[in-house]
Amino acid sequence: MPKSALVTGAAGFLGSHLTDRLLGEGCTVLGVDNLSTSDSANLAHLANDSRFRFEERDICASFDPGHVDYVFNFASPASPPEYLRLGIETLRVGSVGVENTLQIAAKYGAAFLHASTSECYGDPLVHPQPETYWGNVNPVGPRSVYDESKRFGEAMVMAYHRSRGVDTRMVRIFNTYGPRLHPGDGRVISNFMMQALRGEPLTIYGDGSQTRSFCYVDDLIEGIVLLSRSKEHLPVNIGNPVEFTILECAKAVLEVTNSESKLSYVDLPVDDPTRRRPDITKARTHLGWEPRVGLKEGLQRSLAFFRSRL
Ligand code: UDP
Repeated sequence: MPKSALVTGAAGFLGSHLTDRLLGEGCTVLGVDNLSTSDSANLAHLANDSRFRFEERDICASFDPGHVDYVFNFASPASPPEYLRLGIETLRVGSVGVENTLQIAAKYGAAFLHASTSECYGDPLVHPQPETYWGNVNPVGPRSVYDESKRFGEAMVMAYHRSRGVDTRMVRIFNTYGPRLHPGDGRVISNFMMQALRGEPLTIYGDGSQTRSFCYVDDLIEGIVLLSRSKEHLPVNIGNPVEFTILECAKAVLEVTNSESKLSYVDLPVDDPTRRRPDITKARTHLGWEPRVGLKEGLQRSLAFFRSRL
């Protein structure tokens, strides 16, 4: 593990779990976040940890954190309602922000890991999606602010790797859930869990036949840590390859929460991908990684968190 790390997006769902893991391994962490879609409560338990420091800042303005061994770039809005609300900010953090963090890595000779996304595949025509698939993305649709931001970010990371010799890695993250997934950010698991716990109808977008593959956060962080230690510079999918329809996901949430909520059907958002499932052959063979926690077990483990946010 690195001795010191910069984690951008540290107050977010994944950034805060990654920060905990790095501190647990003995690393000193500087966390930065502009708190636009994250929650400083995710870091409250670290208030007295002398190896952790937090700075509220937007990585779109260049900054110098001093020497670090590793840069983990996790800053970006990531839930559809949030990036639709913050379209320009999302494009900027995926372009200017990514470059600013790459410059820090270049300056200090630090290793670099960038959080990318399965959204790079858009509404995929190849199923499941291997890293070699180039994707099917609408460059001008509402979701383009996120998809193209992340695709541009990947191009920027490769350019700094190829032209400046920065020691980079990229993870393509598939749908992930667990404690600290913001209860109000509009994602499917947080919406369903909160709706089920409140006894409100679960909002199914479209007919619920679209699919997603849900990875429990601890599995994802383990994959990211293994990737951070590897020398793989091209993107690696990290996600759970077990695929569920949104209706199946709703049923799992109702079971785990023991809820009698009904289902209510509402319009499908524009360009909502019809299916998504990672091909994790590369993570299996290069990193020796695979997920361990199934959907129902992961939902069980997340229950106390969502209850506490009622
Ligand atoms: N979805 C849904 N009800 C909700 C929220 C989301 O049916 O209350 C659907 C959404 O249309 C999509 C899937 O669940 O097909 C996953 O949505 P999410 O926003 O979690 O992430 P995405 O994978 O689209 O980025």
